[in-house]
Amino acid sequence: MATPQEKKLAEGRKHQNMQNDTKASQGQWGRAWEVDWFSLASILFLLMFAPLIVYYFIMSCAQYHCSLTDPLLDLLSGNKHLSDIWNSTPTLTHRAAGIYSLWVSFQIVLYVFIPDFCHKFLPGYVGGIQEGAITPAGIVNKYEINGLQAWIITHVLWFANAAYFHFFSPTIIFDNWIPLLWCANALGYTVSTFAMFKGYFFPTNAKDCKFTGNFFYDYMMGIEFNPRIGKWFDFKLFFNGRPGIVAWTLINLSFAAKQQELYGEVTNSMILVNVLQGIYVLDFFWNEAWYLKTIDICHDHFGWYLGWGDCVWLPYLYTLQGLYLVYHPIRLCTAHAIGVLLLGLLGYYIFRMTNHQKDLFRRTNSNCRIWGKKPEYIECSYTSVDGTKYYSKLMTSGFWGWARHFNYTGDLMGSLAYCLACGFEHILPYFYIVYMTILLTHRCIRDEHRCSSKYGKDWKRYTAAVPYRLLPGIF
Ligand code: NDP
Repeated sequence: MATPQEKKLAEGRKHQNMQNDTKASQGQWGRAWEVDWFSLASILFLLMFAPLIVYYFIMSCAQYHCSLTDPLLDLLSGNKHLSDIWNSTPTLTHRAAGIYSLWVSFQIVLYVFIPDFCHKFLPGYVGGIQEGAITPAGIVNKYEINGLQAWIITHVLWFANAAYFHFFSPTIIFDNWIPLLWCANALGYTVSTFAMFKGYFFPTNAKDCKFTGNFFYDYMMGIEFNPRIGKWFDFKLFFNGRPGIVAWTLINLSFAAKQQELYGEVTNSMILVNVLQGIYVLDFFWNEAWYLKTIDICHDHFGWYLGWGDCVWLPYLYTLQGLYLVYHPIRLCTAHAIGVLLLGLLGYYIFRMTNHQKDLFRRTNSNCRIWGKKPEYIECSYTSVDGTKYYSKLMTSGFWGWARHFNYTGDLMGSLAYCLACGFEHILPYFYIVYMTILLTHRCIRDEHRCSSKYGKDWKRYTAAVPYRLLPGIF
C-alpha cells in the first residue's frame, strides 16, 4: 500500500507529466506547423502536375481510346506535337458553364436551405443537426447533416428526367465531360484561393488557423481548420460530400446511358461498377454523421488539397472505370463477374464493419460488445491548445486488433474490385487502385504521426499491442 507521502509524490509526477504532455501536444495536433523539404517538394510537384495528370487521363480516353502510352509515343516519335493534342481538346463552352453553375447552385440550395427530414422516417439513420469532434482550440462545431436527402432528391430528379420529362439527355455528363473539366477546375482554384484569403483576413476561428510562413504549403494544406460562411455553410462538409460525391453516381449513370446509346446495351462490367461504387457512395451519405469524426473533418485544414481535390480529382479520377467502359464495353464471363462482385462486397463489408466498430466503441465510451465480447482497449490522454486535458481510448480488439487501419484494407479490396471489372487490356482503369494504395498508405502514416504526437507514450503502448498497419503479419 502506498503511504500518503508516496501518493503525494505520484500526484506531483502526474501533474508534471500533464504539463509536459501539454507542451508536447500543443501545436502538433492537426497538420504541421513547419515544412520539411520533402513535404515542400511533394506539394510543389502536386500543385504543378496533379491538374496535368487529370487532363492526361481524360484526354487519353477522348483521343487515344484510353491508352496511356500512345499519346507519349506519338509525342516522342514526333508524330504529334503538344499543340496538336491541345488543339483537339474541347474548350470551355457556354453550355458546360451553364450546366456546372446550375449543378453547384442546386447542391448549395439542397445543403443550406433544406433541413434534413430523412432522419424523421428512416430507422437507424443519423441526420439533422449533429456535433463534430473537438477542434485543437477546444471548439465543437455543429453541422446540418442532410447529404442523404440531397443525394436522394438529386437522383429522383435524374431518373424522373430520364424516364418522363426528357429535359436533357442522361448522357449529358459524358457529352460535356471535358468542357465540364474546365468548370470544375475554375471552381476548385477559386474556392482554394478564397479559403487562403479568408484564412488571412477573416477566419471563422482564428485559434484554429495554422500558418507555416510557406505560401505553397499553406495554399495546399490550408490555413483554416473549419472555414464557414454564416452559421451553417461549412466548406469542408460541403466540398467533401457535394458536389463531388453526389455527382459520382450520376456520372456513372451517364456513362451507362452512353454505353446504351452507342452499343444498344449496358454491359455487366458497367453494371458492376455502377452497383459497387453506388454502394460506396450511399454508404458515405448514410454515415455522413460518422464522417464528421474522420480525418478529413477532424484533422485536415481546408486548402487546395481538399478544395481542388474534391472539385476535380475526385469526380474525374474516381470515375475512370465507367469512362473506360464507354470506350471498351467489356462483357465479363460469369465467373469473372461473380469474382469481382464477391471481392467488392467483401471489401465493403470489412470497410464498413471496421468503421462501425470504432464508431460504436467511441460513441458508447466502450460500453458495447464487439464480436460478442466487451471491447479491449488502451486508455490514453491528450491536451488541447488551451491546456485542457482530455481522455480517450484506443480499441485493441475486433478488426482494430487485427491491424491499426483494417478499414483501409477493406477500402482497398473494394477499389481493386472496381478495377478488375474492366478486364486486363489497359492499365488506365487500374490507376484507381494504385492511387488508393498510395493515398491510404500515406494517410495511415500521416495519421499515425499525428496520433503519436497527440497521445505520446500511450500511442507507443497501442502500437506494441497492435503491431501491424494494414495487413496482419505483413505491413
Ligand atoms: P479512421 O476512421 O481510421 O480514423 C483514424 C482516427 O481514428 C485516428 O486519427 C484516431 O483519432 C482514431 N483511432 C485510431 N485508432 C483507433 C483505435 N484503435 N480505436 C479508436 N480510435 C482509433 O481514418 P480516416 O478518417 O482516414 O478514414 C475513414 C474511412 O474513410 C476509412 O474507412 C477510409 O478507408 C475512408 N477513406 C476513403 C477515401 C477515399 O478517397 N475513398 C479517402 C480517405 C478515407 P482520435 O484522434 O480520435 O483518436
